Amino acid sequence: MHVCAAAATETKEETFTYQAEVDRLMDLIVNSLYSNREVFLRELVSNASDALDKLRFLSLTDSSVMAGEDAMEIRIKADSDARTIVIEDTGVGMTREDLLSSLGTIAKSGTAKFAEAVKESQGDANLIGQFGVGFYSAFLVADKVTVQTKNAADPSQWYWQSSSGSHQFVIREDEAKDLPRGTRITLHLKDDATELADAAKLGDLIKQYSEFIQFPIRLWSSKT
Ligand code: ADP
Ligand code: MG
Repeated sequence: MHVCAAAATETKEETFTYQAEVDRLMDLIVNSLYSNREVFLRELVSNASDALDKLRFLSLTDSSVMAGEDAMEIRIKADSDARTIVIEDTGVGMTREDLLSSLGTIAKSGTAKFAEAVKESQGDANLIGQFGVGFYSAFLVADKVTVQTKNAADPSQWYWQSSSGSHQFVIREDEAKDLPRGTRITLHLKDDATELADAAKLGDLIKQYSEFIQFPIRLWSSKT
């Protein structure tokens, strides 16, 4: 990962180039799983659920991580006018370092193994979760993805954004400062995926894919 626009302070926006392996993985996901693209919701809901699990675990020894927000839930908003889907959780959130190490770098399995498995399975959507590459499935339906996140131990809220095909992502301190804790992911839907900005449709997908999530999932529609 390389810093392209060097920033003197943390409040300035910084641009990073994806690790080449991540770039290849994103291409692979978008090209091989296109026909299973609704899997993005399962992946993002499962990440939200993991973040809530982590928070619950931390709260056992440090109740201060719950400060400012009692709820432990997942909120999903479909906005057909803005052509967005927003997936928000009140989980553990990410520090700037978490963002850098989690979104842009592969920590676990390599692309080669995933690529091999995809080839053998002819596009089995379950592989995407199995190989720990779930987040990037957002780019199956979105051409731009924004992440806003706040970790309980970090005074700052952080903003991450990336557009498909750009090979880059940006990180800056988020002036919105509106999250008590947790993560909000905004999917700016591709032209051919705008029909997904529909609460009924998302509700069906949740029933189908996210039946066993242990936290409440609140779903609503919004007009801008
Ligand atoms: P995996 O879930 O298998 O680790 P993902 O690609 O789905 O792989 O997610 C990568 C990482 O990004 C996660 O391990 C986590 O550290 C971070 N992450 C993603 N979504 C969230 C979220 N909603 N809240 C906190 N951290 C998240
Ligand atoms: Mg995941």
